[in-house]
Amino acid sequence: MQPVILDHLPARLLEHPAAALADHLDGPTLIHLPGRRPSPLFVSVLQHGNEISGWDAVRRLLSGRYQRDPLPRSLTLFIGNISAAAQGKRHLPEQTDMNRCWPGGSNGRGEWHGLLDQVTEHVRVLKPFASIDIHNNTGENPHYAAVNRIDPRALNLASRFSRTVVYFTEPAGVQSAAFADFCPSVTLECGPPGKRGGTDHAMTYLESALNLDELPERLPHPEDLDLFQVTAVVRVPGMLKFGFGAGAGDAALRFDGHLDRLNFTEMPPGTRFARVADGRPGIQAFSTEGEEQTGDWFEVVGDKLVTRRPAMPAMLTTDVDAVRQDCLCYLMERVRIQHRRGARMDHPELPESAP
Ligand SMILES: [Zn+2]
Repeated sequence: MQPVILDHLPARLLEHPAAALADHLDGPTLIHLPGRRPSPLFVSVLQHGNEISGWDAVRRLLSGRYQRDPLPRSLTLFIGNISAAAQGKRHLPEQTDMNRCWPGGSNGRGEWHGLLDQVTEHVRVLKPFASIDIHNNTGENPHYAAVNRIDPRALNLASRFSRTVVYFTEPAGVQSAAFADFCPSVTLECGPPGKRGGTDHAMTYLESALNLDELPERLPHPEDLDLFQVTAVVRVPGMLKFGFGAGAGDAALRFDGHLDRLNFTEMPPGTRFARVADGRPGIQAFSTEGEEQTGDWFEVVGDKLVTRRPAMPAMLTTDVDAVRQDCLCYLMERVRIQHRRGARMDHPELPESAP
């Protein structure tokens, strides 16, 4: 599959919600819009078809004053999985997750890989100013930005969206990691799709990013940034019956109905996740290298599944499909960046993880 590449917005495209884009575009599409500064801001939306805040933010941004005024900076817009958007799904059952198929991915070669290779090479040549990939999630999470490198410009870009910033290296093959090779690059998580607050936040952020002259090459001050590193991912094995709260019935693994309230809270050891039927944890925790570490993170006490060590979860969801298609949650630990006030740090030292 090839990307469609356009040098203008198709007429009235901005009038259409995400679910209707497949009727007006011929597949994943890259659109170049010129602005006063030539080095473009790259913006990616709808890699996950049901995560519509990014597209809604772009619609509002471009329907406003920039219909008459020139853009302050060129904009290169990537509109991702519109066939999944037409169905309101993250991806269609026969598709792989688009945001695992960018250069650097580890899931073989499928329908998206060639297309995303081309998008990457096309944009790399344009020497983008920065890259912003916009998502939603299903659980109760604060809005936050994520980076794939501890790089001053990327951290500055991220901390303009949220004080909480997540550093992750897994899963591989994500857009922000691929583009981090050639420009400051962030992923935005804008809370649940369809909520006005997520769209507003993304819209305001895009407008401010378009108007930036440059990004500081200095690490943000510690008081402007809470940086967390993802150290484990928690999954439920495919065969296992599970559920949340009252909806769990007699499933082997019955998670608390409001588990997602734990997102971005520092959980002490002994925090309850679920009730289990047969004395086994049911869930599996893996390190970012893919090594199973369930016993390091969780234990069964009586009929309860509890945590064994301090951690902060992110992306905890109570949506069974989201757990099946992706994961239950990520577990994070706090990172302290080494900051020298006033020092210019082109090559920051590696962070020290907090114990
Ligand atoms: Zn997403």
